[in-house]
Amino acid sequence: MSGQNERWFDRARKCIPGGVNSPVRAFKAVGGAPPFIKRGKGSHLWDIDGNEYIDYVGSWGPLLLGHARPEIVEAVTLAAQGGTSFGAPTIAEVELAELICELVPSVEVVRLVNSGTEACMSAIRLARGATGREKIIKFVGCYHGHADSFLIEAGSGAATFGTPSSPGVTEGTARDTLNARYNDLASVDALLEANGGNVAAIIVEPVAGNMGCVPPADGFLTGLRERCDRHGALLIFDEVMTGFRVALGGGQERYDVRPDLTTLGKIIGGGLPMAAYGGRADLMRHVAPEGPVYQAGTLSGNPIAVAAGTAMLRILKANPEIYDDLERTGARLEQGTRDALAETGISATPQRVGAMHCLYFTPNPVIDWDTAAKSKTQQFNRYFQSMLASGIYLAPSQFEAGFISTAHTDEDIDRTIEAMRRALAGSLSEDSA
Ligand code: PMP
Repeated sequence: MSGQNERWFDRARKCIPGGVNSPVRAFKAVGGAPPFIKRGKGSHLWDIDGNEYIDYVGSWGPLLLGHARPEIVEAVTLAAQGGTSFGAPTIAEVELAELICELVPSVEVVRLVNSGTEACMSAIRLARGATGREKIIKFVGCYHGHADSFLIEAGSGAATFGTPSSPGVTEGTARDTLNARYNDLASVDALLEANGGNVAAIIVEPVAGNMGCVPPADGFLTGLRERCDRHGALLIFDEVMTGFRVALGGGQERYDVRPDLTTLGKIIGGGLPMAAYGGRADLMRHVAPEGPVYQAGTLSGNPIAVAAGTAMLRILKANPEIYDDLERTGARLEQGTRDALAETGISATPQRVGAMHCLYFTPNPVIDWDTAAKSKTQQFNRYFQSMLASGIYLAPSQFEAGFISTAHTDEDIDRTIEAMRRALAGSLSEDSA
């Protein structure tokens, strides 16, 4: 029976803000009711109306191995049978922490938390606590979760909905957050100079995935490293999205830059709510109960999430060729996109780093928020709706990254390109979507 998505969305809006538990899910930018998902398998999703989709959202990044990967389902089932939460130490969380320290080059000690928001919030508290300084530098269009300090010129849903700086964040908090331009070291220098020795940390997404997909320019990340060293500030890589995605060791491995602290999320939980922050042992020793910087969590290190995350990371570690496969699949999608753009004469810019990608409806390369914001979002929206009608599930905003998983087949990609040809051709006119 059709129309179930609309019916449930109406019902949801009465009892949940906007009908959703995270803003971008509501399809507000692109219009219409979001599909309510019934199940997922591999690279495919099914909604409650029985529509099937090829999924490029992947739960916004965690599902590097696709939906319902048998090893992960089995690990979760087994763990649940042994009890769902203890709030006490387990062997499994030590094994996972060891694995994270082994795989992520700069992480020597790690604390497990429940969300990327919590990881980033805790990392800057630690940076402030360890340096005794108050200010942080972030980049316009980057997103580090919804803690107050980060909701100033933020990316992701905050950018999509035109509320990059949220009401409810106090002026005092806003004053301590300094915004630089992504890929622009001069803008960082200006802030460092103006704020003397009071910058605790620079936090950055090594590949910016919350304004689409913006790779770091040559020298940008090493430039940040040098500046942090010179000014006594800490460098925090927010690898919630890039961790275990752009390389097994994340952006820091891919670009060979060593941050002081790293935040992880998404893939690390294998699709369950888990995240982490970690880094230099001397810094992590400031965290309670070893040190005075307080941070805690009832469900932190939850056995089911730990089981899923461990199963995920073990598969990645045992099969390093996964990253070559993802690169190949990503390159096939990118080439198909370029061919479809050439055929249809549409002026748009595909950008990609491995299995993260974005098609910007702007003719010029996107290097920061200003160039991303030049995208024609109405054209994106028509393109999006046509893709959805063809069974291709993209993130419902121009300013989100798309994700490829190991479950995406060549056939999936070819079907996507077919749908893209139609969607691009129709994207210029209002009624053709
Ligand atoms: N940092 C980055 C880079 C992210 O992409 C996200 C989520 N999209 C977060 C932090 C926040 O993570 P969470 O949604 O798990 O709180």
